[in-house]
Amino acid sequence: MRFVQVAVPVPVRKLFTYRVPDAWEEKALLGCRCRVPFGRSGEKMGYVVAEAEKLPKSLDREKIKPLGAVLDERPTFSPAMLDFTRWAAEHYVASWGEMLRAAHPVRLSAKARRRYSLTPKGRDAATQGKGKGISEAMCRVLDALGSAAADEARELTLRGLSRALGEEISASRMETLVRHGWVREESTFVEPRKGKYRLAVECLREAEAGEAGPAETLILRELKKRGEAVPVAELSPFASDPHAVVRRLRAKGLVRVFQQRILRDPFWDKPPEQNRELTLTGHQEKVFRAALPALRESRFQPVLLHGVTGSGKTEVYIRLIREALGMGRRALYLVPEIGLTPLTAARLRAHFAANVAILHSGLDEGERYDEWERVRRGEVDLVVGTRSAVFAPIESLGLVVVDEEHDPSYKQEESPYYNGRDLAVVRAQRDNAVVFLGSATPSTETYFNACGDSSSSFPSTRKPRKAGYLSLALPERIEKRPLPGMRLVDMTKEFQETGERKILSRALEEALMQCVARGEQAMLLLNRRGYAPFVLCRECGYTPDCEHCSVMLTLHTRGGRRDANDGKIPASAYLMCHYCGHREKIPRRCPECEGEFLQMVGHGTEQVETYVRSLLAGGARTLRLDRDTASLKDAHHRILSAFGRGEAQVLVGTQMIAKGHDFPNVTLVGVVSADTGLAFPDFRAAERTFQLLTQVAGRAGRAERPGEVFIQTVNPRHYAVEMAVGGRVAEFYRKELWFRRVMKYPPYTAMAIVLARDRNEEKAVKLIKKLARALREAGDPRVAVLGPAPAPLAKIKDVHRYHVVLKSSSRGRLRSVLDKALGSLKRLKRESVRINVDPVNVL
Ligand code: ADP
Ligand code: ZN
Repeated sequence: MRFVQVAVPVPVRKLFTYRVPDAWEEKALLGCRCRVPFGRSGEKMGYVVAEAEKLPKSLDREKIKPLGAVLDERPTFSPAMLDFTRWAAEHYVASWGEMLRAAHPVRLSAKARRRYSLTPKGRDAATQGKGKGISEAMCRVLDALGSAAADEARELTLRGLSRALGEEISASRMETLVRHGWVREESTFVEPRKGKYRLAVECLREAEAGEAGPAETLILRELKKRGEAVPVAELSPFASDPHAVVRRLRAKGLVRVFQQRILRDPFWDKPPEQNRELTLTGHQEKVFRAALPALRESRFQPVLLHGVTGSGKTEVYIRLIREALGMGRRALYLVPEIGLTPLTAARLRAHFAANVAILHSGLDEGERYDEWERVRRGEVDLVVGTRSAVFAPIESLGLVVVDEEHDPSYKQEESPYYNGRDLAVVRAQRDNAVVFLGSATPSTETYFNACGDSSSSFPSTRKPRKAGYLSLALPERIEKRPLPGMRLVDMTKEFQETGERKILSRALEEALMQCVARGEQAMLLLNRRGYAPFVLCRECGYTPDCEHCSVMLTLHTRGGRRDANDGKIPASAYLMCHYCGHREKIPRRCPECEGEFLQMVGHGTEQVETYVRSLLAGGARTLRLDRDTASLKDAHHRILSAFGRGEAQVLVGTQMIAKGHDFPNVTLVGVVSADTGLAFPDFRAAERTFQLLTQVAGRAGRAERPGEVFIQTVNPRHYAVEMAVGGRVAEFYRKELWFRRVMKYPPYTAMAIVLARDRNEEKAVKLIKKLARALREAGDPRVAVLGPAPAPLAKIKDVHRYHVVLKSSSRGRLRSVLDKALGSLKRLKRESVRINVDPVNVL
């Protein structure tokens, strides 16, 4: 008998053993997805990760359940990917099965269609067996299979059998017959439904004189002009019935007609950018050359590319990708969110055309499956994708690029909590590839890995912890375009001088009016959606909280267009929770003290937009980009393109507007408040603020016209604000690293958060106490166990959250403490526990 080990995506870190049914005795199963009986009566998808050569004595061979259907014809995971995902699971203290599920984000699988036929033994049984312990129902099935065989149909599917017999035949009944050896089962695989197709036509050869009629000639000429396959529907300007003309052309063997897949990605409609051949600048050339030796020698080489926005990083990547491809190797290009970096994806597509697969969440299941399959079959040499693409089945990887490596969206914020950027480095190491971590504002961790803090003027210096990082820089913008001048506006002083708390300072307001008057565009950033962050009773200080979450409710408005901008709560306003979406009306009176004076405090993007509209009365238009306006599919792409086409003069938005797009006409950027992030109870608050300010400032003056940036704040002396405004980058990291070291935070300390969640608060408390005890009992003095305590967000969607924070200078020790403590937990409890290693979000 053959047994295999299966990783199941449940939060239990063990493998499960199953018997391989005789029919698949010879089948290669390693890396295949399969269905397995799981739990009392359920079934789950699992991944075959190993042959079980020796079974532990405790297992009763006879009781081991058989695998259900195998869902892959060829293995989904190669041995290398199995190994990589196992490493990742161990590193993140996650279950291997969960990591595998994250690695193949396609729910669809090839459907196994089971076909049944009668065996000789079954034929005997059918003729003699009646009454001999074979039930009536069984006999009917055998008979049906017998007559099918006589009809040359030979094999029947379940559906076919059910139809032939006029009754529902279950798979389990067939299993019994198979087990008796009366029926043979064979699986054939049916590819899942794929993306959308349309009829396209392509020119095969030129027509000889007189071969084609006038309409046909017209269409041939168009096809030749386009030089590629053209959807038949797009030919309607050239013939009244293009389908008929194309049919005639096909009959003459002049064209090929085929179903072309429609790739649904946001760049489909984008005309490919001009593919000019650029001469690299001196700085670009230096970076390119520095990376070449490792690439040529197939040597692992991590590189930090620290380049200001617009310094030509992408261009260098494109050259390096070409170089890698020229050497017969492949490349992986990770981006934080495709929708927010459409330009990069479009540029890569323009350069590498059909040789690119783009893996992103905007594709439907079938399309994602297709893209993934193209990668697996080795049909493309460049894969562009978001964090899960780090698991893409690329062979001979030579180059990995992690664009905007500091972006928090590389971290998956649900189980398994892996970080795509960090895994990209590990993957590059395993594949002997060069890996570029690029950013204008690197994460403190990467900066430390590459530069250390040895330049620190603070006492005690250290070398980079990770040996061998190459630190490269692109210190200036292309064509020496100046970085925009940044101006700090102290809003406390502004208030003292004007006596008014306005959204925009006088200076920013004036700059905005002038910018619009010049026919240029402006971006206003406020990293807070909604109209106002909360409502407050002036009498007793009450603020409405969400019933389901431990957060204040945010004030939103419905279509703010008609709302007056008079500082009063707008008529269309309501309260909304940003964590669970709960909405309620604004109470007329304070529910606590019956006071009548509820007022809004602070502002959000909706209010900024309303305010700017009232300022720019007369023709000027605004657009807003935040999670509320961008909730629909492709919406953020639509908003950004509309802004790019100049359909609005002002774009208001959250940090979504700070990311890598390029609007040449934007000459003014205003940060309405630099303070929103600073108050967060998160050790990365300063880093995030520094990054956000630097990134958004980089959006101004990308083309010939110089840009201007205003930063409004009530914390003008905070080092994150001060150094972002002064462009004192190295100084910022030095100070930040000092803070991290003193406070024992990453990168000096490995960190993990153990979170207990339960709808019942007492249960959550009990569980976290138990965990804390187990973690302390694991007894490693070099691992600090802090807590338990309520998580900063103590309740979300009625689920109570308590956590313990682990810190240690040794990652290995941290992990073994976690392993020990979790090992003592029963499975049921394990479902309520979340382990976040190297947390990015500590809330
Ligand atoms: P980054 O990725 O650092 O923001 P990009 O690679 O997008 O920078 O470059 C910014 C702009 O400069 C782009 O429009 C790009 O086409 C242009 N560019 C890049 N390199 C060169 C070059 N060597 N010569 C001329 N223009 C360049
Ligand atoms: Zn809520």
